[in-house]
Amino acid sequence: MKITTISIFPEYFSPLELSLIGKARSQSLIDFKSINLRDFTTDNHHSVDDTPYGGGAGMVMMAEPWGLAIDSILEKDSEIDLIILTPAGAKFNQKKAEKLSGAKHLVFACGRYEGIDTRVGDYYRGVSGVRVHEISIGDYVVNGGEVAALVIIEAVTRLIPGVIGNPASLDEESHNEVGALEYPTFTKPAIWREINVPEVLLSGNHGQIQKWRQEEAKRRSELGQ
Ligand code: SAM
Repeated sequence: MKITTISIFPEYFSPLELSLIGKARSQSLIDFKSINLRDFTTDNHHSVDDTPYGGGAGMVMMAEPWGLAIDSILEKDSEIDLIILTPAGAKFNQKKAEKLSGAKHLVFACGRYEGIDTRVGDYYRGVSGVRVHEISIGDYVVNGGEVAALVIIEAVTRLIPGVIGNPASLDEESHNEVGALEYPTFTKPAIWREINVPEVLLSGNHGQIQKWRQEEAKRRSELGQ
């Protein structure tokens, strides 16, 4: 899978050199590129923002640098999923992560200030080969789209075959079905600060363990914990 981020802070994505994603990149399972939006500006100050039409506080990211940056990607790859990060977008979840894990090239538009001129999404919705997704990572506001892109990249790429060492660990995870949570997990020692691991997990009875896990998963899911 190809992943390209467009941002005024391309260095924000250095964590993607670490851990499983770093390894997947070195194995060419993921081809990651971080583009600096300011490289697509035309003035001496490399401006990317201007005052909002209609007035109000803050600055809005101008459409043209975004247009030039996205066009530069489309020159090399005419089929992309363009993800515009915005708190006003559709809420991200595991289902969406699964859908996006089948994409060939994800392009993340990471806003700053008061966000990106709305016409950017409107324009690319009309460009053939581009699927536009406006996505929110939750009902709160962060300072920029970079951290939201990192969340989505991590949730999506761990579903690509080969990224997680043991694919079985994906089978019973939380949110595989809407609202379903995984059972509680424990490791050694069996007693930690006077708290015991549930007896059944030490029994070696796989049938009982499976039953206990299913019941606990159901209980947790109903509580929404
Ligand atoms: N004024 C905007 C609003 O009220 O909807 C918030 C702008 S926010 C300070 C700057 C950027 O951070 C956004 O353009 C977006 O890219 C990103 N962002 C903030 N919260 C987000 C969220 N919950 N999900 C996705 N992106 C978010």
